[in-house]
Amino acid sequence: MPANGVGYEAQLEAMLEQIRAKGVNDERVLDAMRRTPRHLFVPESHRIYAYDDHALPIGAGQTISQPSLVAQMTQLLELTGREHVLEIGTGSGYQTAILRRLCAQLTTIERFPELTLRALRNLSLLELPPITFVVGDGTCGFPPYAPYDCILVTAGAPPKPPQPLLQQLRPDGGKLLLPLGPREYQLLTRLTKHGSRVRAKTFGECRFVPLVGKYGWQPSEVEGWRQDW
Ligand code: SAM
Repeated sequence: MPANGVGYEAQLEAMLEQIRAKGVNDERVLDAMRRTPRHLFVPESHRIYAYDDHALPIGAGQTISQPSLVAQMTQLLELTGREHVLEIGTGSGYQTAILRRLCAQLTTIERFPELTLRALRNLSLLELPPITFVVGDGTCGFPPYAPYDCILVTAGAPPKPPQPLLQQLRPDGGKLLLPLGPREYQLLTRLTKHGSRVRAKTFGECRFVPLVGKYGWQPSEVEGWRQDW
């Protein structure tokens, strides 16, 4: 595919087939991905790989996640279109666009201002309803708009999940989906809140850039960490 994206459609369809083969069968999720060309979110230097099922660098030492993982995480939120969602880790804005097509209200938080600016530019190329962007530490959540039906964390959290995120979930079935575990690898985990009880279910291993913040990894703990691609 040339850097300007001409002829991307066939590659996008092939990517969707790969995602189906990995068990994602929610047609709403697949349709949201079909309407969100991934090459718009990938830097020009890596655009020829935009439809490969890989994470790719987006600057600031961060990555756009592997598309099959984006699809799996979105499917696990079981969105109906009525939800109020909080995303932690805007990154390139790719997952943001897909979520926005499937929920009623979306707030997204990113710790690097330059990534938020780039995500805003990327997202402006698509016609999407309004999204609230926040630059800051997503491990603290975003209390002004709480409670949330769903919170999606797209960076690897340490084994103890950030408590503010659990507190900001709706008490009647609110879902927090996040990669939990040591720095090197995580278990994709869905926590469902029922009053003061939280039910956990895991969905296999994954590998994300670290969630750095007050209730995540401390900067000194992730020094020298790097993602291979
Ligand atoms: N979902 C993104 C996409 O589609 O491009 C990819 C997200 S990338 C794997 C993880 C992102 O989480 C990075 O952009 C990183 O800067 C961000 N991040 C890490 N810790 C954070 C925190 N405490 N608050 C907000 N964002 C954070």
